[in-house]
Amino acid sequence: MAGLAAAEAFHDAGFDVDLYERQSYDAKRVNCGEAMTAVSEIPLDPTPENGFHNPLPALEVEVYDGTASDRRRTGRGEFPAADAYITDRNAVERAWADRLDRLGVAVHEDHPVPSADFLEFADGYDLVVDATGHPSLSSKALGRTDAYGARLVALNADVAGDFGDLHPNARIVLENYTGYVWAFPKTPRRANLGIGWTFDERPDDYFAAFAAACDRNGWPVPSRDRTNVATIPEGPNLDPDRTYLPEHSVVRVGDAAGIANRVTGKGISQAVESSYLAAELAAAGRLEAYPGRLYRRLKPEFLFASVVRHLLEARRPRVLGAAVRAASGVDIEAVDRAPTTVLRRLARNPLLLARIFLRRRALGRLYAGMTDRWRATGAGRGSG
Ligand SMILES: Cc1cc2nc3c(=O)[nH]c(=O)nc-3n(C[C@H](O)[C@H](O)[C@H](O)COP(=O)(O)OP(=O)(O)OC[C@H]3O[C@@H](n4cnc5c(N)ncnc54)[C@H](O)[C@@H]3O)c2cc1C
Repeated sequence: MAGLAAAEAFHDAGFDVDLYERQSYDAKRVNCGEAMTAVSEIPLDPTPENGFHNPLPALEVEVYDGTASDRRRTGRGEFPAADAYITDRNAVERAWADRLDRLGVAVHEDHPVPSADFLEFADGYDLVVDATGHPSLSSKALGRTDAYGARLVALNADVAGDFGDLHPNARIVLENYTGYVWAFPKTPRRANLGIGWTFDERPDDYFAAFAAACDRNGWPVPSRDRTNVATIPEGPNLDPDRTYLPEHSVVRVGDAAGIANRVTGKGISQAVESSYLAAELAAAGRLEAYPGRLYRRLKPEFLFASVVRHLLEARRPRVLGAAVRAASGVDIEAVDRAPTTVLRRLARNPLLLARIFLRRRALGRLYAGMTDRWRATGAGRGSG
């Protein structure tokens, strides 16, 4: 998505653009929940033919105190999704590539850029936008993949079944482990289902755990052969030195810049936004401002994700449930992209704010975030 958005925006700004994709846009490329937010930023009609299936009214979030049969729900919220769809991501990308082709962008499918040839390849262009996901192609070429990590492992599947009770809404369920399970219906009879855990909490048998999670949440169990495994990336931590490499005329966008959300792994709207920002600044001859602008745009989101992740890691489902209830009603895109909206909601309940923050570890996490130390540390467990 970052590459398509970059091709669109740089072309629009008057650049001659070549877009290289290592696979065909008809082939399955990226495993993901296929929930797209900020869809109005994508220059396609949001029709089923273009891959946009379910104009999501709201995302439901449920919090439980565990996974046992007698578990209790500690909170529930409903987050409107004014500009979001559950999609067939491949179809969206196919439609966007076709649009770019019609606009005159040279779209090279089935054309991997080998990391060994990358520097020579880059010499042939005034600028290379690295939108190759994580770890990025340019980091491989320069032998600097160390900034990229993957601390969450996720399973997902496109599942046929009866989702009539949930559709058209989607649902995320937090079950007192550092991770979550999701059901994103495309139609009443098809949904993207998935589950993710941090590496240190992943089960021995991923598929059995996924099947059990679907079962206890009342969703059809996917077949093993249709289930994908992926890692949700972290890094390079908004480090401005890693998002623009002027000495090689490379700018990184999307997951290559490491900007997916640290709790949810959601990264498509961030990918599109970073590409548009890079094009805007390149057109103004101010690309050197990109790392700072990207950093300032993403820092509140990173900070908020640190605090939410702390609540998951510290096993505080009652506090998390209360926070979800308090934030209910905020648009889903604002929850991660404009978290001050959520903080203003929480501020109406000073007792809840105190329960969240008046703990040494929570304050430590906040301080670490404010001083740009973003890595999750696996903070110790507390009580609800
Ligand atoms: C399990 C899971 C579920 C997720 N669910 C969601 C969700 O529901 N909503 C959401 O917003 N985000 C979600 N995300 C995050 C989202 O998938 C990423 O943030 C997003 O895909 C980043 O887009 P990108 O374009 O930067 O990188 P990518 O999607 O990784 O795209 C990189 C592209 O570069 C191509 N490429 C790679 N190397 C080369 C090369 N050498 N030459 C040419 N081409 C190359 C690849 O084929 C690919 O098409 C999820 C992630 C995971 C793992």
